[in-house]
Amino acid sequence: MAALKLITFADAEGSRAGVLLEGDRVLDLGRAMPPARDMLALIDAGPGALAAVRALAASPPARGLKPAPAGAVLPLAAVALQAPIPRPRRNVFCVGRNYMDHVAEGDRTRGITNSEVPKYPQFFTKAADTVVAPGAPVPSHAGVTQWLDYEVELVAVIGTAGRDIPKEKALDHVFGWSIGNDVTGRDLQRRHGQWFKGKSLDRSCPLGPVIVPREDLDASDLAIGLRINGEQRQASRTSKMIFDVKEIIHQLSAGFTLLPGDVIMTGTPEGVGYAMQPPQTLKPGDVMELTIEGIGTLTNAIAD
Ligand code: MN
Repeated sequence: MAALKLITFADAEGSRAGVLLEGDRVLDLGRAMPPARDMLALIDAGPGALAAVRALAASPPARGLKPAPAGAVLPLAAVALQAPIPRPRRNVFCVGRNYMDHVAEGDRTRGITNSEVPKYPQFFTKAADTVVAPGAPVPSHAGVTQWLDYEVELVAVIGTAGRDIPKEKALDHVFGWSIGNDVTGRDLQRRHGQWFKGKSLDRSCPLGPVIVPREDLDASDLAIGLRINGEQRQASRTSKMIFDVKEIIHQLSAGFTLLPGDVIMTGTPEGVGYAMQPPQTLKPGDVMELTIEGIGTLTNAIAD
């Protein structure tokens, strides 16, 4: 069974949810399945709705096996891809320092050579409206930060609400997986103590290009990497997380209710620009390509 690739797209009729089909085609769920008009509605509608989407995608209307409203399959070239959740309902939840080699490279920039494994996940957030689409320009914020950086991260999208979620039930609350770029102003991150300021610059959270349902992909040991202008900068595996997705959900949900559509960025591996020798910063024109096995590639360029 091929993994389902859920997208959000826009055309002259507005924004809606869809499924990426073979042959660069899009199944328009706004037409084919109006209750799943947008991604948050699809997530809210629960497992039955996802099963219906899966059935439609397996026999798309263009093949004539299961006729749906006319015009429900569109050429990908005719639509604009958006972030799969263009505007999360609340802040994007993030985990810092969650790969040991990344902890160590960060410590080295501060003269620390004997890094300790974090005992608890370090949670912070990015403002919900930092999310931008695959292909959308990311501003350099040149007047605000001298040290713009990238971070490839596996994203878990929450499907069902829960609080005090036990580890062994944690994946039951995941709707699916995506890719996020935690674009960061390193100087701001350090200057302000709290990370929020350096992590919440406008348009600093590319997300996408698709959501793969949790049932379709075991995300516990996937290749995760990032290239800048074709040069490989980050290359690791999600199995190297210090706190895996189950542990993150368990700890984040302790006394705090996770909601459908919540977006959780699970941390970045080693290879970020500020820890390179010499340090590298993102410049206008730089192209960031983030790839996670089984999900796809998220590409965004830095604008002026
Ligand atoms: Mn990060």
